[in-house]
Amino acid sequence: MKCKKCGNKAVIRLRAHHISLCCEDFLSFVLNRVQQTIKRYKLFVPKERIVVAVSGGKDSLALFDILQRLGYPVEGFHLDLGIDGFSQRAREAVEAFFVEREAPLHLYSLNENIGAGVPKIASQLRRSPCSLCGLMRRYIMNRFAWEKGFSALATGHNLDDEGAALLGNVTRWQIGYLARQAPLLPAFHPRLVKKAKPLALVSEREVLAYCILRAIAYHEEQCPHAKGATSRSHKEALNLLEYYSPGSKIRFYQEFLKHQGIFPDSASQGLQECAVCGFLTTRERCQFCEVLEHYKGSPLPMRRSEAGKG
Ligand code: AMP
Ligand code: ZN
Repeated sequence: MKCKKCGNKAVIRLRAHHISLCCEDFLSFVLNRVQQTIKRYKLFVPKERIVVAVSGGKDSLALFDILQRLGYPVEGFHLDLGIDGFSQRAREAVEAFFVEREAPLHLYSLNENIGAGVPKIASQLRRSPCSLCGLMRRYIMNRFAWEKGFSALATGHNLDDEGAALLGNVTRWQIGYLARQAPLLPAFHPRLVKKAKPLALVSEREVLAYCILRAIAYHEEQCPHAKGATSRSHKEALNLLEYYSPGSKIRFYQEFLKHQGIFPDSASQGLQECAVCGFLTTRERCQFCEVLEHYKGSPLPMRRSEAGKG
């Protein structure tokens, strides 16, 4: 198997793109794909402050590496969810990565700031840990980015994640989600930071190969509360289609994005500012403030830094 670009020995075959590539050309291929995604979907504007949400897993560490190599001035944000053992190991992987690169990393620990991690809060409030975790993650990441004056929050969602989410939204015909599921979620309110998914056109297998070839030491473990089987079954369904018809996955997602305009967007409808914290919610008080009040009896001690810098 020879590299289509240079003729040297290939290390990977990409059936979806009808090519085999050597190590060097594969790494450039991934960088180009991310750069094209940023350009096509207008994810970032020049010189803006970007924070990458890093879980310690392969996707977010690869994303940080790629954005850095592409010359974006990125900083990392890691949320320590306080899940026994799992969160410590995730945090260690993140810290080791940032020390090695001498890159700026911001840490936020639920244990240190709220007094408990996801499992403890969830059991006290009798909620599922996964739904609570999703809620805390979305809220804290947006609020952190906003308070520190970042204008973009980038996450490591890859093509398999986006394809699986799309398949889930299609099988349930969730029109509202279909209107919004995109590589870019713009900031449609002053307290929202735009969300970008620069790996949306890079498959999970490609991200994995990228990490191996770059020797990125990522945290491999699955969360012990791992999300239900639905996203896994949707990924498996897409992998089966991909096996029989290479390119299905990327076509499914990219063709959807081309026609997305047919789904009416009601993103901002029914949203209001939380009476306690001022961030967007569908209720009078947001769920995060409700969780805090039940659990701790006080609001979150975070403040926007002067002039949005910090
Ligand atoms: P997941 O839903 O676990 O697949 O995560 C999707 C993306 O969210 C990851 O690629 C990260 O960018 C971000 N993320 C997940 N967990 C964390 C965390 N604990 N701290 C910071 N970012 C996270
Ligand atoms: Zn609130």
